[in-house]
This record gives sequence, C-alpha cells and structure tokens, in this order.
Amino acid sequence: MIKAVKGFKDILPDETPYWQFLEEKARKLLKSFGFREIRIPVLEKLELFDRGIGSTTDIVEKEMYTFKDKGGNLVAMRPEATASIARAYIENALHLKDPLGKYYFIGPMFRYERPQAGRLRQFNQINVEVFGTKSSSLDAEVMALLHNIADEVGISDGVTLEVNHIGCKKCRPIYRQILINYLNQNREALCEDCRKRLERNPLRALDCKRQNCRRVALSAPKLTDHLCDECRSYFEEVIEYLQIYQVPHVINPLIVRGLDYYTGVVFELTTTELGAQSAVAAGGRYDYLVEELGGPSVPGIGFAIGEERAVAMLKNRKKLTPPAPLFFFAVLGDAAKKKCIPIVLELRKRGVYTEMEHENRSLKSQMRKANRLKARYAVMVGEDELEKGRAVVRDMEKKEQFDIELSSEAFLKLAEEEVR
Ligand code: ATP
Ligand code: MG
Repeated sequence: MIKAVKGFKDILPDETPYWQFLEEKARKLLKSFGFREIRIPVLEKLELFDRGIGSTTDIVEKEMYTFKDKGGNLVAMRPEATASIARAYIENALHLKDPLGKYYFIGPMFRYERPQAGRLRQFNQINVEVFGTKSSSLDAEVMALLHNIADEVGISDGVTLEVNHIGCKKCRPIYRQILINYLNQNREALCEDCRKRLERNPLRALDCKRQNCRRVALSAPKLTDHLCDECRSYFEEVIEYLQIYQVPHVINPLIVRGLDYYTGVVFELTTTELGAQSAVAAGGRYDYLVEELGGPSVPGIGFAIGEERAVAMLKNRKKLTPPAPLFFFAVLGDAAKKKCIPIVLELRKRGVYTEMEHENRSLKSQMRKANRLKARYAVMVGEDELEKGRAVVRDMEKKEQFDIELSSEAFLKLAEEEVR
C-alpha cells in the first residue's frame, strides 16, 4: 500500500464543504474590496526566495523544497506567495496597467517543517497583496479586509488582530543594535537558535516560541519605543484608521514576522484555540521588496491566511453536511429507466440535485438508498406508472405519498415550490 508523503494530506469530500465555505466568503469580500485573482506557478527559481524572503530566515535556511531540474536549473516549490506575486508584477509590468494593483491568490505552499496538528509540509493560503500605495488608511483597510473575512466566516469571536510597527531603514538599525546589546546580556537564557541568530537576525528572537526566550523577549526594549518620528506618527494614524474601520485590535510590540521583506506595519491574526499553533493569518508592509527584486520602487502590503487553521476554527463552530438530492428516482425495469433519464437530465441541467438508480435493485433497496442519501422525494416508476404516464412520489420528510405527471415540467414545478 503506497501512502501519501509525510506532511502532505488529502482533503476529503466530507471536509471540502468547509474549504468551499471559507473560500467563497473570502472571494466575495475580496471582490467587493476590489481585489482581482492572480495565479502564480508552483515552481520558481530558488534565487527569487533567497533574495525576496531573505537568506537568514527560517524558510530559506531550513524549510524550502529545492531541487535541480533535468536542465540543471536550481528551483524551489513556493514556500509563500508574496515573492512570486511581486515577481509576476515586475515581469509583466503590471505597475504600468494598475497604478494600484490589488491581487489575491489561493493555493498550496510547501515548507519542509516538522508536521503536527496545524502544521503541514503542503498547506494552503489565501494571499492578498496591494502594490503601489503607502498610506495609513490603506494599511487599516487591508486589516479591515482580514477582519471582515474572519467575521463572514464566523470565526472572529476566536481571534485577535495583533498589530505592530517594525520601523524603517532609518530607525530599525538603531533599535537592532539596542536589541543585540540586550540579548547579549541575556545570552544564557536564550535557546541555541536564538543565540545563532543574535547577530544576523536579532528581531527573530522576539518571535521565538520557547519559554525562556519568550521571557527574555517580554522584557526586551520595545521597538515601538524607538521608532523615528515619521514611523511613530504613521503608526498612530494606522491605529486611528483601524478604529474608523471598526477593526478590533491590540498593539503587540513582539510581533516581528519571520520574513526579511517586512517594513513598517506588521500584524497577525492569532487564536488560542489551535494548541501550539497560534497564527491564523499574518502580514505587513513590504515597501522595498519590488525594488529589491529588480522592479520599480513600488511599496506594498499584504497578508496570508492559513486555510488549514481557519478551517479548523470553522469546524469547531459550524457543521456543514454534504448536499442531499431533492429527487431520487427509484426505477423498476429498463423501460422505466429509459423514460426517466431525460427527466433526470433536464432537472440536473436546471441545477436540481437528482439521483437515479443504475443497478436493477428491488424497490425496497432503492428506497433504503433514497433514505440513506437523505433525498427529499423518492420518485417511484414501474410498469404501472409508465402506462399511466404518472409517477408515485414519496415525500420522505412528511412521510406522505402522492402522484404527479411523469414529465420534467411537473418535477421542476415541485422543485420550485420546494425553494419557496
Ligand atoms: P508560524 O509562526 O505558525 O510558523 P509563519 O510566520 O511561518 O507561521 P507565514 O509565513 O506568515 O507563517 O504564513 C502565514 C500563515 O500561513 C500562518 O499564519 C499560518 O496560518 C499559515 N502557515 C504557515 N506555515 C504553515 C504550515 N507549515 N502549515 C500550515 N499552515 C501554515
Ligand atoms: Mg513558520
């Protein structure tokens, strides 16, 4: 028996209704916020992520699926979407067409991590990106979109939007040095990883999940206390606009994000419902990414929702059952089957979920099947009915029986009454 690769998971038909629900709600809101769908490839040149995400990040250092293809090119399966979307934006000169480019992408990402509940090697994200404008009201709008998606999906009671500002090219290096000094003083308490990243990527220590590191992080100097005047007033504006957009939020100076391209406002949508995994969605500003990837100097902001985690929260709240047929045609004999097929086809073309028996089983077993499928009406057609041109219909809910004309019009009429 060949099993799936570790960390790669099937999403079975009983689960897909939750995914469809999440994605439909998201698509609907994205559309009304003016976002258009973009579809990016699974494979990119390794260099894109090296340059885009940053070579000292966990993703690039440890988590990427990289290989040489048969032509000897070094490629990677995308671990996230922002770098790819930025690449597509530059390569197709979208800045010329869309001065304000608002795009979204839904699809799988690949990271070689230790699989556990809520953490897979292939996982899915809803990615949202805006290129072209840097504005405090836009930042709040992007977070409002995230909050509204959570709200529409029905999970907003279980999440917190945590916001921070990680400074700019001017103030971050100053804070960085202050933090390095502080971390060096507390070196003994830090884990192996944090000691290693101390010089190269000290902000990551604030994000470490180990308990001792968390304690050190909690009393570390706060970035928000070291922002330059420009960043501070920008951040204050963002917070004000969040109120105007009616987005509940908290400021958390420890939110730093693990990718190098972030600058300025960053945020996470967190929950306590998913055990070790706390982030349902995350994002922030990336004002230099497009330029660093060789494009024009265009600012950007975006976020990604982890679909597995959002679905897990949705499942805790809502039960979505598979659709049940409105009609189940229990046919007795080939002549009845042949008479019913065009009717079944017409109903289906009109969007009415209809099932029909293909095996020549007894009426009793066909009725059991109609029951198992939770069909609303079982339609019985045998020789007698064929002769009269009528069908016996059993209302499985009301447990009543009646007969109607054996024609698609008669069934469509019944279906319409059902809708009303
Ligand atoms: P985490 O801290 O949980 O590792 P991250 O900072 O690596 O998350 P991002 O790169 O910001 O995550 O991705 C955005 C979202 O994608 C996360 O908030 C999470 O919901 C989801 N996500 C990230 N990695 C995984 C994974 N391996 N399996 C399932 N979902 C994931
Ligand atoms: Mg991670």
